[in-house]
Amino acid sequence: MSPDAPPLPLEPFRIKAVERLHLPTREEREKALARAGLNLFNLTSEEVFIDLLTDSGTSAMSDRQWAALMTGDESYAGSRNFVEFERTVQDLTGFPFVIPTHQGRAAEHLLMSALLHPGETVPNNMHFDTTQAHVLRQGARPLNLAIPEAYDPQVDHPFKGNMDVPRLEELLRSNRKNVPLVMMTLTNNTGGGQPASLENLRAISAVCRAQKVPFYLDMCRWAENAYFIREREHGQEGRSIREIGRECFGLADGATMSAKKDGLVNIGGFVATRDAALVPRLKETLITFEGFPTYGGLARRDLAAMAVGLLEATDLDYLEHRIGQVRYLASLLDAEGIPYVHPPGGHGLYLDAHRFLPHLSASELPGQSLVVEIYREGAVRTCEVGGVMFGSEKPAPGTPPPLELVRLAIPRRVYTASHLHYVAETLKAVWRRRASIGGLRIIEAPERLRHFLAKFGPSPKRVSTTGSTTITRGKARSRANM
Ligand SMILES: *Cc1c(COP(=O)(O)O)cnc(C)c1O
Repeated sequence: MSPDAPPLPLEPFRIKAVERLHLPTREEREKALARAGLNLFNLTSEEVFIDLLTDSGTSAMSDRQWAALMTGDESYAGSRNFVEFERTVQDLTGFPFVIPTHQGRAAEHLLMSALLHPGETVPNNMHFDTTQAHVLRQGARPLNLAIPEAYDPQVDHPFKGNMDVPRLEELLRSNRKNVPLVMMTLTNNTGGGQPASLENLRAISAVCRAQKVPFYLDMCRWAENAYFIREREHGQEGRSIREIGRECFGLADGATMSAKKDGLVNIGGFVATRDAALVPRLKETLITFEGFPTYGGLARRDLAAMAVGLLEATDLDYLEHRIGQVRYLASLLDAEGIPYVHPPGGHGLYLDAHRFLPHLSASELPGQSLVVEIYREGAVRTCEVGGVMFGSEKPAPGTPPPLELVRLAIPRRVYTASHLHYVAETLKAVWRRRASIGGLRIIEAPERLRHFLAKFGPSPKRVSTTGSTTITRGKARSRANM
């Protein structure tokens, strides 16, 4: 590690309940891969040692959240847990209307089905997979307008999650009637967990207000985004996370939220807005698909845990540890020059699969291949964010090809620094044998959100060049050398 390496992330909590982990043997891992059709979404959790598939709904709840669960008032209508939850969201965001949903995509469903029409265009810095699916489902077109730096994993930029405001202005100038809303994803999950600056949000807000276009935030990781603003933006260092958040929300007309991220719960979400006229339409879909507006598809005790979690996510000690973990993991990889998206993101580290496996072409699915090899090496489960997740959609003209990334998402308050060391050792072992890693191809897949259900096999190209039908296997690893 270099002398300016980040400090060991010191856990600002102690452990009160533990869950047993088991490292599957090499043979068990091979069997699991074969059974799963090389799609790690098909693994059972017993087949995984360290699970970095997602940070969504995988957080450890605090003692206070568990205590809040016991205060559940399970009334169908008018539960006091809803009243508390609603007040918490109103206080944090300033949005007067709050509609709970079972998770983020349900909030997207409500908002997109109320606002979009076929043929319209929805700009975003970068659409997350479910957001994109909901735009497409309404017959509309998702348009990613992230700044050019967002597409270069090597470039260091403090706010790679920013939107290209001149391009947004241009779009609205030429085609305002066709844009039902503008969205910003905080942080930019698809682009490496990168934040957007307050300055950028102010500029977007001004453009939207001038053109009278609704401006919505995908606020899944708003507290992490606020942490980066506090750390990196001029004049913001003395402010609290909640103050910065309030300013961000004040620039927007509403937001969708997956509380499985910065709500520190295992299930829950909401849509919030200032637009009173929109609320009846949102509630109609809510009641059809989710439930009554005072529970939105959740147990009322879930609302109680969410109200506590939303506040805990704004704690500076917590955020310092969380974002410190991602940086620490990055610093462990620097020793070997393992390529990842710079700078490290808020909720995870994103490996650059094209640079990790430069001998594979995009059609050989280097990201998916890397995900499989990382599991094979150390039973660490990660997630491809690249050609498999986004490749089935035709990119809009002028958009760069999708990034080919492997996301190591860090669940909140779950793993220790030793776990991160284990992950780094696993990645180094894969890195050392990278030249022998072959590509993959999709054997079967549904049309939309295909990464969840696809099955994979070795790429035909490899078969013809190596004469082997299986991708190369790494050396067996014993427990002793980890
Ligand atoms: C997770 C996520 C969603 C969807 O939320 P779910 O709770 O998984 O349905 C939407 N946008 C972003 C940026 C996300 O990370």
